[in-house]
Amino acid sequence: MKTAKLITMGCKVNQYDTQSMRETLVRNGYAIVDETKYADLYLINTCTVTNAADQKARQAIRKAIRLNPNAEVLVTGCYAESDRKAIEQIPGVSVVFGNREKADFQTYLDKLNADAPLQIQPIQHDAIREHARFSSGVSNAGQRTRALIKVQDGCSAFCTYCIIPYVRGRMTSRPLSDIANEAYRIANSGIKEIVITGVHLGAYGQDTGRDKDIADILEKIHGIDGIERIRFSSIEPMYFPDILSERMSALPKCMPHFHIPIQSGSDNVLRRMRRRYTTARFAHLVENLRDRFTDDVGITTDIMVGFPGETDADFKDSLEFVEKIGFSQLHVFRYSPRKGTPAATYPNQVPSEISASRSREMLNLGKEISESFRKSMLGKNKNVLVEESREGKNKQLAGFTDNYLRVLMDVPDSAINQVLNVKLTSSDNEFIYGIC
Ligand code: SF4
Repeated sequence: MKTAKLITMGCKVNQYDTQSMRETLVRNGYAIVDETKYADLYLINTCTVTNAADQKARQAIRKAIRLNPNAEVLVTGCYAESDRKAIEQIPGVSVVFGNREKADFQTYLDKLNADAPLQIQPIQHDAIREHARFSSGVSNAGQRTRALIKVQDGCSAFCTYCIIPYVRGRMTSRPLSDIANEAYRIANSGIKEIVITGVHLGAYGQDTGRDKDIADILEKIHGIDGIERIRFSSIEPMYFPDILSERMSALPKCMPHFHIPIQSGSDNVLRRMRRRYTTARFAHLVENLRDRFTDDVGITTDIMVGFPGETDADFKDSLEFVEKIGFSQLHVFRYSPRKGTPAATYPNQVPSEISASRSREMLNLGKEISESFRKSMLGKNKNVLVEESREGKNKQLAGFTDNYLRVLMDVPDSAINQVLNVKLTSSDNEFIYGIC
């Protein structure tokens, strides 16, 4: 049996796409190797959100070729879309294809296997294409507790720093009936938590005349027996109206955790990023979520430092705003010019040593606020969905609270895929610990 190794970089949409291609590989007779690094085929699903992401992608490609110079090396994703030539020039790469071609993954495999055909189970080609576009990624390996459903792809917002609309294309929404069918399939497989995924979730339906919106998806999935928890992977603040918070808060399966990328806590910078919201609007959104859900709602975010023209005063505003909101976790990025985006041509690019020092300062603040959030939860009881993974020194079982804190517990394996009421007792730099 041939083996394949899958390497995924970047966001949850990429993770979802990889999962779909993984299923196609399995149907084509490949054994997926996770632990061993040697394989007959490498599929590298890249990201291009920063220069560092491009570099990481090139390193992963070269590493795969070094591990097995005779392997088929297939490269896809956003970096493949933005700089196909750079990848094609790496000796040893077999095929490069973009995001929009992922739906044709079977065709690429067919071409590769033309000389040495594998045993392929008969399946209808159109069905594969549709599945590859929007598969949930349910597999039979192990007891999975959480599944992603991609409900839309692409983005038409064109924030001035962002390459995504160029590499993922304009907004396309998946029909609600398909999403619901996928959710039923997930529920039937015993998975209890669904993470609704997309590039720009709040804009769902914009391309189809808004006959359905993201809240309609939530309401539909909420009605499915067996699904106990629903989350968004990430939702942009400019497409998170109060009516959405209101409709969500009427659905108890919607978890009180929201990843809402703020990008900057300075209104000057947000304007130049063309983000179409202000810090005041963002603060209102968070306040509204705390009122409607619970004060314990977990708000995580992405924040960028060193955007062109970001002054010391702008950066200070950002730090103060982050502290004021009290995020439960920060993902800090240094601005990196992406060719073809407006911001790459802006004057006043911030020197690298300044953005590096701002990044350190923001990361330190991030550590402080997430630690203080974790500490504020100690002594409380939270519902935790227990997962299979074992972590920490004592290899305890891990799981996530409703507000998305990772908790380690001493519970038997029979607790896997159960929602337990756990008392949070202590925390360290990495984990929270709990008892039932
Ligand atoms: S909303 Fe802005 S940052 Fe998000 S994917 Fe679209 S263009 Fe990029």
